[in-house]
Amino acid sequence: MSVIDNYNKILNEVKEVSLKANHHVDLLAVSKTQCVEKMDELAFYGVKMFGESKVQEALPKIEYLSNKYNNLEFHFIGKVQTNKLKKIVEHFHLIHSVDRIEVLEIIDKYACELNKKQNILIQINIAHETQKNGIDPVLLDNIINEAKKYRNITLKGLMFMPPYEEDVTKNLGYFKQAASLFNKYKDNEFNTLSMGMSHDFKEAVLCGATLVRVGTSIFGERI
Ligand SMILES: *Cc1c(COP(=O)(O)O)cnc(C)c1O
Repeated sequence: MSVIDNYNKILNEVKEVSLKANHHVDLLAVSKTQCVEKMDELAFYGVKMFGESKVQEALPKIEYLSNKYNNLEFHFIGKVQTNKLKKIVEHFHLIHSVDRIEVLEIIDKYACELNKKQNILIQINIAHETQKNGIDPVLLDNIINEAKKYRNITLKGLMFMPPYEEDVTKNLGYFKQAASLFNKYKDNEFNTLSMGMSHDFKEAVLCGATLVRVGTSIFGERI
């Protein structure tokens, strides 16, 4: 199957499950480690949103595709390193993975220099996995209040990534917790709950995800 067939298959599944869940869901094509040719095929077909997790890898792909197509949106889903933030703010529409208060001021500074409002999500670590990024939910109030102080930051919602489970139903409790935290703050602007990947996006949507991040099922195994 071609990358477009794969994309359409996933998009249809997302639409089907979003009807069941009774809310709109966006599909982010996670193109990290994948070649620009496959992204080009999708962009030519009309796909607008791509997710990348490494700045160095993403920049040449973004440059190539942005020269060819209008209105593409690149989302940063990798670990936010302070020394990469300038480039991230310059090239990414939405940062999914803000996980600490210290980076807010830096994001705001670069966004101000570029005269843009930077969209961000706060990544939460509900399962308290030490190897995973994300902020402890007890600190969520704090970081949300801080983020709202910055004029060049738009806080769009939350991102969550559960521990890997072969049996996806083991993570339903975490998905529901993430959704209930999200609902606590939800408003017109705070309207994005990013959760769900290739193997668990249906469950995530049924629990409340409004954006799913799908890589392998669209592009194939990562190289
Ligand atoms: C790689 C990645 C994905 C996509 O995972 P797949 O299992 O390939 O769909 C989603 N979210 C994040 C944060 C990722 O790093």
